[in-house]
Amino acid sequence: MSDDCIFCSIVAGEIPSRTVYEDDDVSAFLDANPLAPGHTLVIPKAHHEHVQDVPNDLASDVFSVMHRLVEPAESAVDADGSTVAFNNGEAAGQEVPHVHGHIVPRFDDDGGGPIHSIFGARPDLDDDELDDIAASVSDGADD
Ligand code: 5GP
Ligand code: ZN
Repeated sequence: MSDDCIFCSIVAGEIPSRTVYEDDDVSAFLDANPLAPGHTLVIPKAHHEHVQDVPNDLASDVFSVMHRLVEPAESAVDADGSTVAFNNGEAAGQEVPHVHGHIVPRFDDDGGGPIHSIFGARPDLDDDELDDIAASVSDGADD
């Protein structure tokens, strides 16, 4: 547990939440300021700030719970789909520094657009740059 972490306080029961799922390692609750009805957050109970900080087994557990909750979160509000995503790091808009996955129910007429709509102009990358990036990511994945 991290002091001054609102999600750690929820896990500890110090702050109320509308919990929709809980096991030894993972908790899920409704977002207090939802982007859409049914907006659900899924967190590891242990405090980790970023996706890449979460140990592999726990990351699998978090994804498993997200996978389990997508259908009920959509069904609860009669949604047509959902955006399932992490804001990972301040640059990506992460405000609560305890890793959390968002399940945001989506509706045909909600006008929200895809994740792609976050971004402006796309980078113009030549083949060498793409090869270098691919090699670097691939090397990192082996570590
Ligand atoms: P982020 O921008 O960090 O990815 O998203 C943080 C999310 O946490 C926001 O959608 C915000 O509404 C939600 N949130 C912040 N504080 C609380 C809280 O005390 N309880 C709950 N249930 N959600 C919270
Ligand atoms: Zn925390």
